[in-house]
Amino acid sequence: MRIEIAEGSLFGPANLPYGVFSSPGTAPRVGVRVGDSVLDLAVALGDEVFAAASLNPFMAQGYDRWVEVRRRVSELVGGEVPDNAVHSLADVTLKLPIEVADYVDFYTSEHHASNLGRLFRPDAAPLMPNWKHLPVGYHGRAGTVVLSGTDIVRPCGQRKAPDEPAPTFGECRRLDIEAELGFVVGVGSPLGKAVSIEDFPRRVFGAVLVNDWSARDIQAWEYVPLGPFLGKSFATSVSAWVVPLLALEEARVPTPVQDPEPLPYLRESRPWGLDIDLSVSWNGHEVSRPPYREMYWSPAQMLAQMTVNGASSRTGDLYASGTISGADKEQRGAFIELTWGGKEPVQVGGEERSFLLDGDEVAITATAPGAGGGRIGFGEVRGRILPATEAKQ
Ligand code: MN
Repeated sequence: MRIEIAEGSLFGPANLPYGVFSSPGTAPRVGVRVGDSVLDLAVALGDEVFAAASLNPFMAQGYDRWVEVRRRVSELVGGEVPDNAVHSLADVTLKLPIEVADYVDFYTSEHHASNLGRLFRPDAAPLMPNWKHLPVGYHGRAGTVVLSGTDIVRPCGQRKAPDEPAPTFGECRRLDIEAELGFVVGVGSPLGKAVSIEDFPRRVFGAVLVNDWSARDIQAWEYVPLGPFLGKSFATSVSAWVVPLLALEEARVPTPVQDPEPLPYLRESRPWGLDIDLSVSWNGHEVSRPPYREMYWSPAQMLAQMTVNGASSRTGDLYASGTISGADKEQRGAFIELTWGGKEPVQVGGEERSFLLDGDEVAITATAPGAGGGRIGFGEVRGRILPATEAKQ
């Protein structure tokens, strides 16, 4: 059979993102999304590496293999495919596509970092002195990275508003999102060896959408001096489809001018800025359109930074960009910025919102230019807020 692809599909031959799926009565395995179908690679290519519950074994095979498989899938998609290798997207269950090894979150939007600086430290300079010298990041919690569609239970914890005399324990009252792009390491690097910045496309397999759910009241009280902890670690959602870096060549753009010039290990011959447009919907209403192209530090610079001290990296490592925010208000990728700390609520379908209420749902989507003049899609990362489970004192 031939796989049908609707005119203007964001999942045409220029995209071919990888995911993990199962159909009734079968074990999870690797597939490629083509239009509104899923191509079962274990069947189509007859290769056991795809009969796995994550992309990790395939990603670990390395760059030359990624190129070869993409070429073979492209050929299949343009011609005849065995009937039993094709499933309708509606008939399959999508799984978390990678076995997440380590998870790191950066902070690479100058607009976001400046806005958060103004909100969290109103009496100081918006950017810390280190911010334009290195991509700032923290280690997150790999075990709580969840697939899009997973419900998010409102976290509990200690919080203390500046005007309160002492902290109290209870439900998060300022639950927020962070719209981000995440990068998946395919080929790791050994302990003691930094990854060269030019090695990025041979190390990183692809990109996903990330929602870094954030409990702002818990975060504001706990983050000094060691950074985010329980305000972030309760859940991080990722999209089901990993868009290969090989599909993002058309989306490459320069990063913004970096002044001061970074140290040599962070200098790129051709910077990996990416022209990706995100959209954030709150209960079905678009509230923001964050532009990835304005991110100050590139994903190649992030990987170089993450390993410059000799820390190893592994297949399945996920590192995210940090909140993507543009210069304009309607381009802010976190609600704390969009509503300026809750002081300027937004209209969400006739209702006023500053932070997330129980039952609210957020969906983040993204598109980028693809080869051949069309656009390619990242699918979505979606999540709904469930009420807090009984708080423990
Ligand atoms: Mn974040």
